[in-house]
Amino acid sequence: MTTFSGKVALVTGSTSGIGLGIARAFAARGAHVLLNGFGNVEAALADVRGAASEPDARVLHHPADMSRPSEVDAMMRYADDVFGGVDILVNNAGIQHVAPVEAFAPERWDAVLAINLTSAFHTMRLALPRMRDKGWGRIVNVASVHGLVASAYKAAYVAAKHGLVGLTKVVALETARTNITCNAICPGWVLTPLVQAQVEARAASSHLALETARDELLSEKQPSGQFVTPEQLAELVVFLSSDAAAQVRGVAWTMDGAWTAQ
Ligand code: NAD
Repeated sequence: MTTFSGKVALVTGSTSGIGLGIARAFAARGAHVLLNGFGNVEAALADVRGAASEPDARVLHHPADMSRPSEVDAMMRYADDVFGGVDILVNNAGIQHVAPVEAFAPERWDAVLAINLTSAFHTMRLALPRMRDKGWGRIVNVASVHGLVASAYKAAYVAAKHGLVGLTKVVALETARTNITCNAICPGWVLTPLVQAQVEARAASSHLALETARDELLSEKQPSGQFVTPEQLAELVVFLSSDAAAQVRGVAWTMDGAWTAQ
C-alpha cells in the first residue's frame, strides 16, 4: 500500500463530501493532514483522526475562507509554521450556483470563481516554493466533468472548472523538470451535500419525489446510472500522489460513469 508517512497533506474544503473522503484516505496512509472548510469541524476532525494509521500523525483544521486571499495566505503561513510546509496540496473547496446566464447574480459569479478557481491559484503560488526547496510535491486540483464539457445554467461553475483544468496544465509545465506534479481530477455526479441541494431543487421545481429527482439527474448525464463515491475519488488522488504517478502530469482525469464518453 502507498504510504505518506511524514508527508503533509492539505485538503481544502475537507469538512464534507469529497474533500473529507480524500483527507481520510491520506490519514489512513500515515500523512499529517490539514483540514479546511466550514460546518461541523469537530466531526470532521474526529472522523479523519479516527482514520489515521500513525499515532504521531497530526490532523488539524484551519478555518480560512477560500474566497478571501488574505485568509488563504494565513492558512499557508500556518502550514509552513506548524508543519514545515505542504507536500500534497489538494484544491477541493468548491460551491455551485445554478441560474440562466442572464439571471446569474454577479456576486454569485464572483464567489464561484473565487472559491473554485482563484483560491487554487493562491494555494499553489504559495505552496510551490517550499515544494521546490524540498524537491518533491503533489498537487491535485478537484475540477469536474464541467472542466471538460458544459451544462446549461452553470456558467460560473463551468468557467471556473475549465479555468482550473487550464491552470493545472500551466503548473504541470512549469514543474515538468522537477519531482512536483500537478494534475486535475474530473468527477461526474457524486452524492454529496453540493449535489443533494441540486436534487432537492429539481424535486421542488418539478414536483417529484426526491428519489425520482435523483434518478432523473443521474440518467440525464451519467450513463452508468450510479454515483461516483468520495472513496473512489480518494483512491484516485492517492494514486496521483504516489511514486507510480510521477510521470502523470497535467492530466484532467475523469471518473464520471462515462459522462464525457458520449
Ligand atoms: P460539499 O459541499 O460536500 O463540500 C464542499 C466543501 O468546501 C465543504 O467542506 C465546505 O465547507 C467547503 N467550502 C465551501 N466554501 C468554502 C470557502 N469559501 N472556504 C473554505 N471552504 C469552503 O461538496 P463536494 O461535492 O464534496 O465538492 C467538493 C469539490 O468537488 C468541489 O470543488 C466540487 O466542485 C467538486 N465536484 C463535485 C461533484 C459532485 O457531484 N459532488 C462533481 C464534480 C466535482
